[in-house]
Amino acid sequence: MKTDTGVSKNISDVESPQIVARQSLLLRQHVEYLLTNSTFYQQMFERQKLSAGDIRCYDDLQKIPLTAKADLENNEEQFLAVANEDIADICLTSGTTGKAVTFYQSSADLDRLATNEQFAFQLAGITCKDRVLIAAAIDRCFMAGMAYFLGLQKIGATTIRSGSSSLGVVAQMVQRFRPTALVGVPTFFLALAEYLESNGVCAAECGVQRLICIGEPVRSVDFSLSALGQRLQQLWQSQLYGTYASTEMATTFCDCEYGRGGHIDPELMLVEILDEQGQRVPIGEAGEVVATPLQVTGMPLLRFRTGDIACMHEEVCVCGRGGIRLSPIMGRKDQMLKYRGTTVYPPAIFAVLQQIDAVVNYYIEVFDKYELSDRIRVVVGCREHVDETVMFANQISERIAATIRVKPEVVIEKVETVRRKITQEDKRKPVLFFDYRN
Ligand SMILES: [Zn+2]
Repeated sequence: MKTDTGVSKNISDVESPQIVARQSLLLRQHVEYLLTNSTFYQQMFERQKLSAGDIRCYDDLQKIPLTAKADLENNEEQFLAVANEDIADICLTSGTTGKAVTFYQSSADLDRLATNEQFAFQLAGITCKDRVLIAAAIDRCFMAGMAYFLGLQKIGATTIRSGSSSLGVVAQMVQRFRPTALVGVPTFFLALAEYLESNGVCAAECGVQRLICIGEPVRSVDFSLSALGQRLQQLWQSQLYGTYASTEMATTFCDCEYGRGGHIDPELMLVEILDEQGQRVPIGEAGEVVATPLQVTGMPLLRFRTGDIACMHEEVCVCGRGGIRLSPIMGRKDQMLKYRGTTVYPPAIFAVLQQIDAVVNYYIEVFDKYELSDRIRVVVGCREHVDETVMFANQISERIAATIRVKPEVVIEKVETVRRKITQEDKRKPVLFFDYRN
């Protein structure tokens, strides 16, 4: 994004001078701590001939190599920066994009998590008067459910730890305890509303005022609600709040009531957006989210590559808060599709498909590149009344092209065939993207 003077702005120009000074101090302390306690970063700094004094502010981060998920896999001990007796809790990443990684938490980290979630829930308008149902796992070493619990305790809200393993159990708790807010995955909220409906209960009459959505975006890059988001709003008659977080980041971006991108507590994380060459992009341009969580002691990280694509916003939010905000996640870096010079991510195609009534389910396949494009094939399961399949396939293709300027090949299949392909036993979520590129 260009400023009035035509100069591309950097993220460090956006925060107030007080916050920049505070972040610089926290970064220096973070680096000092790493060089005293983290074998991985001691070795990295040695290899790069860097010392603590070289990293004094946000822009200095660019001197440091990135840390990838692969660095963490099988190397947890090298990242561990506290003594064994100071490990308060052991977390595991969900392993959706690879091997589950162990994350050791000190008790200071648990306090930090609580502060982080307190900040996020307050953005979503939660107060001590709220009753919040947590439809996320607090067991199986997941960080999320525990973090929500800790944050809500800090706010003084009442928690209802339903978990998300049984629709019946959660539906019962919604009716019995009448939560004012729910925390969970959007597709779960949809299934829950449908389950309630099938039992003669209207979700909109359950008294839920807020849906705090985790794990999947409910907004598009222009901040408008996705088809799923609109459906949830309609079914629950509730305000939707999008969030973005991960175990590695240990920090949450959360929408305020205006849903104009995620705010974060600036003392808990430094964020960079990088292009494919690893260079910072100007504010407003899309790239990979790279996170440096501050004040972490158990397994502290520097410049962690999330693999998620988003962009930053700098203008003061409608809610009056300044500082950087993160757009809804556009997709995964490794799922980037190229089409005649245009870059697109699968969720943008999914968003178009979700708006078509006759479409029940779908997946995307991508094959080896033509000169400047990937061959993108969209397989769609449709309701039975669609018989003119070829014509309908063309209509879908045209509709995608009209919305995102990418015209993929569309194939209509039986709903059951698509369902079999996308349901994989070892995966929590349906698999909607198949990459056959070399
Ligand atoms: Zn705001």
